[in-house]
Amino acid sequence: MADAWDFKVELASAPATAEARTAVLTKPGFGQSFTDHMVLASWSLDRGWHDQRVTAYAPLRVSPAAAVLHYAQEIFEGLKAYRHEDGSVWAFRPEVNAARFTRSAQRLALPQVPEEAFIAALRALVTVDEVWVPPAGSGETSLYLRPYMIATEAALSVRPAHEVLFGVIASPAGPYFDTGPKPVSIWLSTSSIRATPGGTGAAKCGGNYAASLAALGEATANGCDQVIYLDAVERRWIEESGSMNVFFVYADGRIATPELSGSILAGVTRDSVLELAADLGHKVEERRISADEWRDGLRSGEITEAFASGTAAVITPIGRLAWSDGNLTIGDHAANHGVGPVTASIRAALLDLQYGRTADPRNWLTRLA
Ligand SMILES: *Cc1c(COP(=O)(O)O)cnc(C)c1O
Repeated sequence: MADAWDFKVELASAPATAEARTAVLTKPGFGQSFTDHMVLASWSLDRGWHDQRVTAYAPLRVSPAAAVLHYAQEIFEGLKAYRHEDGSVWAFRPEVNAARFTRSAQRLALPQVPEEAFIAALRALVTVDEVWVPPAGSGETSLYLRPYMIATEAALSVRPAHEVLFGVIASPAGPYFDTGPKPVSIWLSTSSIRATPGGTGAAKCGGNYAASLAALGEATANGCDQVIYLDAVERRWIEESGSMNVFFVYADGRIATPELSGSILAGVTRDSVLELAADLGHKVEERRISADEWRDGLRSGEITEAFASGTAAVITPIGRLAWSDGNLTIGDHAANHGVGPVTASIRAALLDLQYGRTADPRNWLTRLA
């Protein structure tokens, strides 16, 4: 099983017309339009990885007995390709996504994609579909990359699959919020939990998302945009949102985020925010933070801002916290559309780095095209 993957390129016979592509790139939205091609690679117990290819974007043919459809043996990743001013295209810390994909694979008993092969797959797709990477200077646009792995073996016994498919698809992405970052309201769920010690919370697997939708419905019914989950054991410690990590900003400039407990997803954005905030002179803390500390801090004014972090929405200010019998407003930064000054400065530092507008002393950028 060689670590270096060579991709056979089969160009699409009917790619989108330039007009159709321009229409998508003008108003990309999120996760709705896909590029002309995709990456696929097959794995079987006896052959290992084989048949690595870039091929026309098309529906997959899988057996109705495929294990993934019954037992949710699925993992995924999410990262973006950014166009810089000179036309080059870059990924942000893709090796961290590759390492997390390996950990997710181990947790779900799926085969591992070598880190270099994971990055080679991203590069192979972006090279062929480079025209789908939005131009520089078009705001916070990017090409969202979605690697995934599914168990395709037609077998209804519950065991690690003997046949698996790895793929990457790509979707032009506009700014998550058309009019700049807008504060979201958060529902503190006390009835649902996202992850348990020893469970799959630290893995990026589809099942976690399926299990989060009922709580999201509860949030929506209570007028909130997103859910924040508490720990499963004491129901006391803040963990994270369904797809974003969470941060608190204190009046004295400290920034705190829940420590990785084993049931929290280790976000690439989370890790980057911790480093960039320290660069900006903030004291950063990873520790347990209770829901009571959050509520008390808002009431006393000790907590001045809160935000969520993730690749898709970058950094999203949290403007309101609600729970079964109360709610609190977080900061009131009316001058800046509800975005607090610390949140805004960290967000800008991250975006400037991703779009190549500042130096990259940690070598976080990897060129894709
Ligand atoms: C993907 C994800 C995040 C954010 O991770 P990033 O690497 O920053 O995109 C946070 N929490 C959960 C549950 C996730 O699935």
